[in-house]
Amino acid sequence: MRATKAIIHLDALRRNIQLIRGRLGQTRLCVPVKADAYGHGAVPVARAALEAGAAFLAVATVGEGTELRSANITAPILLLSVPLPEELPELVASRLVPFVADNDFAAELNAVAGRTSSAKFDVHLKIDTGMGRIGCLPEKAASVAAFIQKQSALRLAGTATHLARADSTAEQDISYTKEQIAVFCGAVDTIRSAGIDPGIVHAANSGAVLLHRDAWFDMARPGILVYGYDTVDSGFPVEPLMELVTRIVFIKPVKKGEAVSYGGIWTAPQDTVIATIPVGYGDGLPRALSGKLRVSINGKTYSQVGRICMDQCMIDLGPGAAADQIKRWENVTVFSSAAIPATLTGTIPYEIACGINKRVPRIYEA
Ligand SMILES: *Cc1c(COP(=O)(O)O)cnc(C)c1O
Repeated sequence: MRATKAIIHLDALRRNIQLIRGRLGQTRLCVPVKADAYGHGAVPVARAALEAGAAFLAVATVGEGTELRSANITAPILLLSVPLPEELPELVASRLVPFVADNDFAAELNAVAGRTSSAKFDVHLKIDTGMGRIGCLPEKAASVAAFIQKQSALRLAGTATHLARADSTAEQDISYTKEQIAVFCGAVDTIRSAGIDPGIVHAANSGAVLLHRDAWFDMARPGILVYGYDTVDSGFPVEPLMELVTRIVFIKPVKKGEAVSYGGIWTAPQDTVIATIPVGYGDGLPRALSGKLRVSINGKTYSQVGRICMDQCMIDLGPGAAADQIKRWENVTVFSSAAIPATLTGTIPYEIACGINKRVPRIYEA
């Protein structure tokens, strides 16, 4: 196996889920495993999450749901994004639970589901309360719910919304979230007033699990928190699951003034020792990290220098490399939390973790 690997700490996943479940109390947990479990590997993460007590999984594409079913995962799986009409037969065959937000889609799904099975097919009504992505208008919620209920092959098993600013502690974002929650509660009430059971009511993402208890309802859908990132800095002690590691594959002395990597943007400020590690933007390590990343070798940190290449980048071990006893083939930790490269490049840990691509084998640790 190549030197560069993403070690996925499933023990940390279990601890994170225990912590989150402890916080949520009676509220059920849905673990989003979309985008290959935020880059961590959907099937192993889904299995471990269910063992740790998750009630639901969530995916973004029909193919992601089918992948879980092919791995014999039988738990309910929410489908968070809208599929094409031609994907409906697979959606039904994989028994995914789609969000439905309009009558046309409900009718199409009803036709496909009715052809396949006599049992009612579960769907969740999605209400747009301020995310502006998918969902019906709150004032249409009761009529779409009634339409779903009238479909012979469908069952309204849940009602949901998604919060756009729940991870922000800025005053105006807190009020925006409170307003979203109030609008959602009002819409759910109109469904109940129409004599319709809204099913499992859910709204909370990671930010709301940490900051908005009034958004928990019957189930919460925290993703990034499960993967170990407290994105609101609330001090909630989750641990990052993903660690990106590699090995030193080449080592050489470089004289003061000599240039390293494309464009010669970095020249050695003193006689030093440069190590090459076989990881680059072709693995999903952002090129924008060039000259900003610090890696760890034997518990000490060293600067990555010069441009990050597609498959390799260089580390300045300093003139004391020999004294530090750093040798070729030594282990290197590129990052043990995706939050660090995210901050350095002005993005979010979600994008860093999802971005570590298929060329990097995932190694699962108990
Ligand atoms: C991705 C997603 C989540 C999880 O969001 P986090 O910010 O990772 O907690 C929850 N609900 C929906 C609808 C999503 O698309």
